[in-house]
Amino acid sequence: MAEPTFRAPKGTRDILAPGSTRLRALVDEFARQADNSGFGEVVSPIFEDLGVFKRLGESTDVVTKEMFDFYDKGDPPQQLALRPELTASICRAYAEHRPVPPWKVWYEGPQFRYEQPQAGRYRQFTQVGVEVLGTDDPQADVDVIVLGARFFESLGLVRIELALNSLGSPGDSGSRRAYEQALVKHLEQNRSRLSTQSQVTVERNPLRVLDSKREQDSAVIAGAPVMVDFLDDESAAHFAAVRAGLDAVGIAYEISPRLVRGLDYYTRTTFEFAAPGLAGAQNAVGGGGRYDGLVEDLGGPPTPGIGFALGVDRILLACDAEGVFGAPSNTVDVFVVDVTGGTEALKVCDRLRQAGIATDRSYGGRSMKAQMKVADRSGAEFAVIIGEDELACGVLTLRDMGDSSQQRVAAGSLVDELIRKRTL
Ligand code: AMP
Repeated sequence: MAEPTFRAPKGTRDILAPGSTRLRALVDEFARQADNSGFGEVVSPIFEDLGVFKRLGESTDVVTKEMFDFYDKGDPPQQLALRPELTASICRAYAEHRPVPPWKVWYEGPQFRYEQPQAGRYRQFTQVGVEVLGTDDPQADVDVIVLGARFFESLGLVRIELALNSLGSPGDSGSRRAYEQALVKHLEQNRSRLSTQSQVTVERNPLRVLDSKREQDSAVIAGAPVMVDFLDDESAAHFAAVRAGLDAVGIAYEISPRLVRGLDYYTRTTFEFAAPGLAGAQNAVGGGGRYDGLVEDLGGPPTPGIGFALGVDRILLACDAEGVFGAPSNTVDVFVVDVTGGTEALKVCDRLRQAGIATDRSYGGRSMKAQMKVADRSGAEFAVIIGEDELACGVLTLRDMGDSSQQRVAAGSLVDELIRKRTL
């Protein structure tokens, strides 16, 4: 085959059927469960004012290194960016529309990050997620986490691990400050043993050093103080209530004191779902947490929030690894073969499709043999054959593709006959 002139841009892919059917089925299942838990869908723009995403934190990789940003054609031009995630857009929407809290929303759609592509890491990928804005009740955290865990279960995944941590609360009175001071002290004392990259990160955002997967950093990280030892009373009580809620519902989790996650806005609860069947750095299939300051950062009223985003592409890889949630069948029920010019096929297809019977045909006035071959390949249960003979008598030949039996059916009773056969 000749080299194509254009290919999909680096880090993006065309997802063709049946892969696309499977992706749609997964999103539909998520939508069903989110609706079932009292969440409403929000469809927000794929691009936003760059400022919306900048509020995610100036030391977040997604903001500093991975943004697909551009100027529009306005005068003066506005700087926009393709969304790298949806929490910021949802908080912007909350600040803009001021819905009655608690606002429980779910979403799905493509996200864009300029990352180095590899298996399970793309520049355009699909996320599904939920957010609850306007309550700091730890039971909202529990409800959100349970929804994620039950969703994975419903797909048939049994090897998903849930890691849980609390990052305390920011601000002068919060526990984060005391912890950061202790962490910086530890990292400074061990500076020479850290990788060059982490030595830079200590200055910009010490918490993110804990995220480092570099071998050279592992010993210093292992000896670092942990946030949960520094929680203020309120954060400790919140964390205890989240754990108690998960225990009450029977959701298994591991406390993971070094789970800080890549986005800077998290406060208190953070969590991650991992699929150990996937390759190391790409085994996170979803994650989330509390972000009690984000709506305010985006110009809204002080509003606590909790949510998660799940990576659909990676969940499907995890399903492959466990051999579950295969592609649903998207074959048609009936294939129409017309050797009288095609007009009859147009009419029969229209009638069957209107009756909800999935129907296909071929084009180009091909021979009976060629059309039957396509009918065979289509996986259809029945072929409807229209020859000159049938046309003259006002009938159609209905062929069962399984046992090759054939019968003639009056054109007007085809739909009824097919419905009768399918209910047998
Ligand atoms: P985050 O928004 O970074 O918390 O990511 C939430 C989930 O989205 C991750 O756990 C991944 O499953 C998925 N994800 C994040 N980045 C990518 C990417 N570049 N390609 C595919 N999936 C991704």
